[in-house]
Amino acid sequence: MGIPFIDLKAQYKRLEPEIRRRMDAVLGHGQYILGPEIRELEERLAAFAGTRFCLTCSSGTDALLLPLMAWGVGPGDAVLTTAYSFYATAEVIALLGATPVFVDIDPATFNMDPAALERAITALKAKDPSLHPLPSGYERLRPKAIIPVDLFGLPADYAAIEAVAARHGLPVLEDAAQSYGGSVRGRMAGSFGQAAATSFFPAKPLGCYGDGGAIFTDDEALHAQLVSLRVHGQGSDKYENVAVGINGRMDTLQAAIMLPKLEIFPEELRLRQAAAERYTELLRDVVETPGIPGGCVSAWAQYTVRTDRREALLEGLKARGVPAMIYYRIPLHLQPVFRHLGYAAGSMPASEAAAASVLSLPMHPYLDEATLSQVAGAVRDALA
Ligand SMILES: *Cc1c(COP(=O)(O)O)cnc(C)c1O
Repeated sequence: MGIPFIDLKAQYKRLEPEIRRRMDAVLGHGQYILGPEIRELEERLAAFAGTRFCLTCSSGTDALLLPLMAWGVGPGDAVLTTAYSFYATAEVIALLGATPVFVDIDPATFNMDPAALERAITALKAKDPSLHPLPSGYERLRPKAIIPVDLFGLPADYAAIEAVAARHGLPVLEDAAQSYGGSVRGRMAGSFGQAAATSFFPAKPLGCYGDGGAIFTDDEALHAQLVSLRVHGQGSDKYENVAVGINGRMDTLQAAIMLPKLEIFPEELRLRQAAAERYTELLRDVVETPGIPGGCVSAWAQYTVRTDRREALLEGLKARGVPAMIYYRIPLHLQPVFRHLGYAAGSMPASEAAAASVLSLPMHPYLDEATLSQVAGAVRDALA
């Protein structure tokens, strides 16, 4: 059998009796929607992230969407986000009729550059695109919120981003879809900003067996609003509706599956860290290996290297039976869907350079030394 890019089977083998026991309990009590496992999971997830509240929901995408809905984001609003992420980060902004205003990344971390964020907000307020690239229609936009992304598992620079946000009175929504389990000086991913969103898509560091997500916040009023929006904007009872919401619940079965996974998650994070360190030892002289700023811990959703010979590396790995992925080939400001925003190629140089040079290697907690050396050997051979 070939090397898997992400090995979900190894984890299932380890947890199968416990996962089946928890699923059987749900089939026994029959509360498939918002059953007791949902509350149990929410309490554990909040405790792990160190936030007052956690609300599970139907996906990471809905976890991003719901706080924006609560904040009343809509037409005429500019939401500042990174130019280099998975599409959903920007999609939720556009879905609400608001406009994504893209900010370039720090090439060392792949995360939003706080200095560029400051320039982008200043440019929006001054209605002056000479200060920072702005989307067409910028004259009519007002800054409304900021969505930094913790790309590949590494938390963004929240000390700097939160300072910029506070200066301009803007709420921050942390896209922690890839970083749940990561931290900065002991503060966990999912606890930054006014709210944070994560995803339990199976391939994320902490995944379920379908779609799922969660929203974290310390803000009790926001949490209450999210509880309502998650179920059709419900009021004091099921058939009183006070807002336009969505059907955004997570299934009880998914919570039952995740509870045993959460038990071993801290150990899995240590195993990911060890695998990443080993890759870096084996590869740092042939490719640009990930740089983790002091005090930061990555959740290692991806182990992503950079090389100016990316296509040769991709072909060489394929020929040697080693799976590799490219996240993401097209930066958000150049996606066809956002063509009407008028962003030019070259306007976000660090994001464009990353998109042209990154490659992610197999990453999961169950990588053994033989596999790590085989992957690293294939990388070296492909670039030799
Ligand atoms: C996966 C992901 C999402 C979306 O999560 P889903 O659960 O797939 O909806 C959003 N943002 C980022 C950065 C992601 O990696």
